[in-house]
Amino acid sequence: MPDRLVLLGSKGGPALRPRGPWPSSSLLEIGGRAVVVDCGLGVTRGLVDAGVSLKVLDLIFITHLHSDHVLELGPLIHTAWTAGLATPVTVFGPPGVGHYWRRFCQAMEFDIEIRIADEGRPDIRELVSVDEFGQGHVVEQRGLTVTALRVDHPPVTDCFALRFEHGGKSVVFSADTAFFPPLAHFAERADILVHEAMLEEGIERLVARTGNGARLREHLLSSHSFAEEAGRIARDAGIKRLVLNHLIPADDAEIGELDWIAAVRKTWAGDLTIARDGLVVELSGAKAASGEGTA
Ligand SMILES: [Zn+2]
Ligand SMILES: [Zn+2]
Repeated sequence: MPDRLVLLGSKGGPALRPRGPWPSSSLLEIGGRAVVVDCGLGVTRGLVDAGVSLKVLDLIFITHLHSDHVLELGPLIHTAWTAGLATPVTVFGPPGVGHYWRRFCQAMEFDIEIRIADEGRPDIRELVSVDEFGQGHVVEQRGLTVTALRVDHPPVTDCFALRFEHGGKSVVFSADTAFFPPLAHFAERADILVHEAMLEEGIERLVARTGNGARLREHLLSSHSFAEEAGRIARDAGIKRLVLNHLIPADDAEIGELDWIAAVRKTWAGDLTIARDGLVVELSGAKAASGEGTA
C-alpha cells in the first residue's frame, strides 16, 4: 500500500451547503498505518468512500475541540464498532477529548448496552483509549513518530499542529491557526504541509451572507491564515508540497481554484495542491495522484 494522504473534508467551519464540501477530516496512510486526522462531520462517509475498512480503524488524532474538527469522532468509532471493529483504537487529542468520549458513550448507553447483550459485541468503552497530549512528543509506535506544536487559534488555547514521521517521510498538519512563524521550523523539510487558508476577497462576501458578520470577521482575522501566509510558512520551512486545506470560503461560486492558486503564488513557487473532498496526494515524491487540484 503506497503512502498517501486523502483530504476527506476540505472546508473550514461547521456549515453545510447544498452539494458543498464537508468540514475538516483527513486520512494519512503511512508505514502501513491508517491515521485519521480530525473528525468533522462527514469523516465516516469520507473514509468509506476512500476505500478504508472501518474495522481497521486504529489511530485518530484531534487537533482541537472546535466542532468542525471533532463533531463526528464518536459517531465514527461507533459506526466502526457496529461494522465489526474488535481491535483497540487510540484517540489522541487535546485536554477535554476524554470528556467528549465518555459523555458520547453515556449518551449512546442504551444502544451500546443492547448491542453488547443482543449481538455479542465487545464493549466499545474498553476498545477505545484516549490519550490527551500537549505540546511536544505525542507518541512513538512501530516507527511512526508524532509531535505537536501549540499554534495560534484564539480563543482556543489547546490547538495543535501535528507532525507525522515514518521511514524518512513526513507530513505536517497546521491545524487551525493565524499566521504563526514558529510553524515553519516545526514543518521544516516536510514532504507535505497541509495548511489552513482563507481567501481575502471571499471573506467579505462570506461575512455579508451570515448573520453575525462583524463577530465572524473578527474571529476569522485573528484566528486563521490567508493563503499568502500559508505560502510564507511553506517557503520558510522548505517543504516539498503545500496542500491548502480548511478553505474559507469553500463554497462560494465566485471563487475557484485559480483564485486560490493566484493568492498563494505570491509567496510560494513550489508544488501546490488545493484541497477538494476525496482528493488523494501520494507521498512518494509528494506528487499528487491526480492532475486535477494541483498546480
Ligand atoms: Zn476549523
Ligand atoms: Zn478551529
